[in-house]
Amino acid sequence: MQLLDGKATALSIRQKLAVEVESLKKVHGRAPHLAVVLVGDDPASQVYVRNKEKACAETGITSTAHRVGADITQEALEKLVTSLSEDDSIDGILVQAPLPKHLDLLAVQALVDPAKDVDGFHPVNVGKMCIGLPSLLPCTPAGVMEVLKHYGISCSGKKAVVIGRSNIVGKPMALLLARAEPMANATVTLCHSRTPDLAGECRTADILVAAIGRPRFVTKDMVKPGAVVIDVGINRTDSGLCGDVDFEQVKDVASAITPVPGGIGPMTIAMLLSNTVQAYTWRMNRT
Ligand code: NAD
Repeated sequence: MQLLDGKATALSIRQKLAVEVESLKKVHGRAPHLAVVLVGDDPASQVYVRNKEKACAETGITSTAHRVGADITQEALEKLVTSLSEDDSIDGILVQAPLPKHLDLLAVQALVDPAKDVDGFHPVNVGKMCIGLPSLLPCTPAGVMEVLKHYGISCSGKKAVVIGRSNIVGKPMALLLARAEPMANATVTLCHSRTPDLAGECRTADILVAAIGRPRFVTKDMVKPGAVVIDVGINRTDSGLCGDVDFEQVKDVASAITPVPGGIGPMTIAMLLSNTVQAYTWRMNRT
């Protein structure tokens, strides 16, 4: 069994990006600049934002966090995001989810300039991804494709099963796996909470991606011997962080597996940095 080390893979990507940013700064006279909007005081979101700020600093990317109270109105939040979209000194904008219940995340995301949409959630970027045009890709599924590429695991001609159909992970994951690209080209099944015989579907997978949000949901009997298993889940339990896959059981049947922590989480941050540098480069080079 091969451990797919997302932490090490992410580190090598971040080191390459730091070198690239150093030389881009000389060409364009300033560093890429990411603006992060954090609403309220959700503890997990605060940790995510701090990690993103730290990762930016280590890569030479400027980051500015806009921390606003949980009682902000939709109108005020939309005004803030619009002002960041219009600010020429900002290359990337990220609105940390989840938002307090009275706020409409999709409406806020739609106000992010698609050229600065480093989360890849704007409908324009989702559409471009669907039809295979160059775009900023959603960080988590892009991170899965990168870790597979890093370990030389091609999905071409293979059967992939994705569990979970969220807009940020499951759906874009299925699209990226099915893309007409050398390491992709998988035949994909997208499973969700209404899928009959989920275990049977999973057992057909050469590549199994779990993005469910339920601790240790994928058990050994759901995995075909020799399958590559990607665990996107991050669940906080009394015994600490764990994924959607029962790692201890599944590692004995899988040919390769990502751990939690140290798997897709660090890859997601690396892809955010990569998207920020990409957005900056495209903006600097536009005519
Ligand atoms: P979500 O709640 O939006 O979606 C979960 C999906 O799982 C839904 O589409 C649902 O249909 C499916 N599902 C739920 N119960 C199911 C069941 N019993 N059988 C089959 N399908 C079922 O979650 P999300 O935002 O996609 O996140 C999924 C997980 O990935 C969470 O643990 C989240 O914390 C984690 N996550 C990790 C990263 C990362 O950087 N590694 C990024 C985003 C999300």
